[in-house]
Amino acid sequence: MGHVDHGKTSVLDVLRSANVVSGEFGGITQHIGAYQIESKNNKLTFIDTPGHAAFTEMRARGSKLTDIVVLVVAADDGVKPQTVESIKHAKAAKVPIVVAINKCDLPDADPQKIKNQLLEHELIAEDLSGDTLMVEISAKAKKNLDRLLESIVLQAEILDLKTDFESKATGIVLESKIDVGRGPVATIIVTTGTLKKGDFFVSGLRWGKIRAIINDKGQNIDQALPSTPVEILGINGAAKAGDDFIVLDNEKEAKTLSENRAQESKKGKNPLTFATQESAFSDKSSEELNLIIKSDVHGSSEAIKNAIGQIKHDEVKPKIILADIGMITETDVTLAKASNAVLIAFNVKPSKEAKKLAENEKIKISTYNIIYEVLDYIKQKMSGLLTPDVQETIIGTAQILEIFKVSGAGKVAGSKVTEGEITSSSEVRVIRDGAIIFTGKIGSIFREKNQVKQVINGQECGITVKDYIDFQKNDTIEAFNLTSKERSI
Ligand code: GDP
Repeated sequence: MGHVDHGKTSVLDVLRSANVVSGEFGGITQHIGAYQIESKNNKLTFIDTPGHAAFTEMRARGSKLTDIVVLVVAADDGVKPQTVESIKHAKAAKVPIVVAINKCDLPDADPQKIKNQLLEHELIAEDLSGDTLMVEISAKAKKNLDRLLESIVLQAEILDLKTDFESKATGIVLESKIDVGRGPVATIIVTTGTLKKGDFFVSGLRWGKIRAIINDKGQNIDQALPSTPVEILGINGAAKAGDDFIVLDNEKEAKTLSENRAQESKKGKNPLTFATQESAFSDKSSEELNLIIKSDVHGSSEAIKNAIGQIKHDEVKPKIILADIGMITETDVTLAKASNAVLIAFNVKPSKEAKKLAENEKIKISTYNIIYEVLDYIKQKMSGLLTPDVQETIIGTAQILEIFKVSGAGKVAGSKVTEGEITSSSEVRVIRDGAIIFTGKIGSIFREKNQVKQVINGQECGITVKDYIDFQKNDTIEAFNLTSKERSI
């Protein structure tokens, strides 16, 4: 990632041409926006994320699907708006950054200045006592590119990146097109597991059976290991860049999932983009509410930030991903989507493009002009992340007198209600000698062969419990209701 003209494409090109085994290079017939190189027995997959602002969305996805972001900064130019944007996206996706300070061959190159500028964005070079790996390179003079690759491998080692080769494959769609000769083609990157020919899969709203797997060198292969970018044939339509890709057990499962998603989508819900990555990236140990706040003036931005800093809770905390001045832009909307953040406009409006994008992506922009209303809204959103309080009320008990076998109903506990009532919608516990043997739900209640909804104290009845048949005489059936109460902070 990086600002336009800082040399991203040049770095990618020179790494590729220097590290592809001779003979293979000519075989690269298609541009699939991703390729794999081999360096000192390590395989590294590079994904090209375009540097232009219009491609912010793809970049948001780019940083989500990568393990490491290589930030290219031109040593003669410095940190520019798209450099900052790239840093924000990478940070929002919790992806570590390796910095390639490029164009160090130029006479006015000043790598030290770049390092100082990056300090402001909390990227601190090792020689400034930080832990961000920064390498001074030149794509043009082919200088220090080996060191860049070594730093990437080192960063991967520090992160202890591991994945499962054995499981069914999952991945992400990078791009997709309808090819005149070959039909729908999707470029995917396998993120876990091994993808095999013949696998059934779902991708976004589409499904299919893998007919062919083609690698970045244009070769047909039988299987693709994790982190491999490949083109696949066999999908039943065009997928969308950023869609997930999941291999399932069989055709029926794949069809059913894609049909369910299509129905959800018709209801206006976003069935699933990135769900797999999101869960892979999210830190479930404590809930965080991600916030993006755009304000009119510096003063209100600071006041809101301070006030949010005062909101404290043990289980959920607010996390400001971005607090800035100015109108809501498309970048903000994309960032909100990529980081699942709440987007707040304080005394500012979204740009026309941002408004349209937010509508398309179903991202809500909440507009306020009073600070305490912003805080109330944030607290309300945080409350939504709290697990509700569940309360239990015992409504009745019954004693088992006899066990019957009834055809069609399985084992029925012939019981007498000794307290309160038992209803067909109750939760139940089976208690034997004071110990809970089973907890579940009532299956059905019978009175003289008729199914009833309720039995009360003193009545005799037959009771079945869902998924349980091992009743014994003298067991107690205790019925209870659960009520859940939303909590607020
Ligand atoms: P991108 O927009 O980030 O992909 O940048 P490009 O790779 O297209 O490079 C932009 C310009 O910078 C081109 O004219 C390149 O030739 C030039 N460039 C890229 N890397 C270097 C370098 O290391 N040194 C010098 N002097 N020029 C470079």
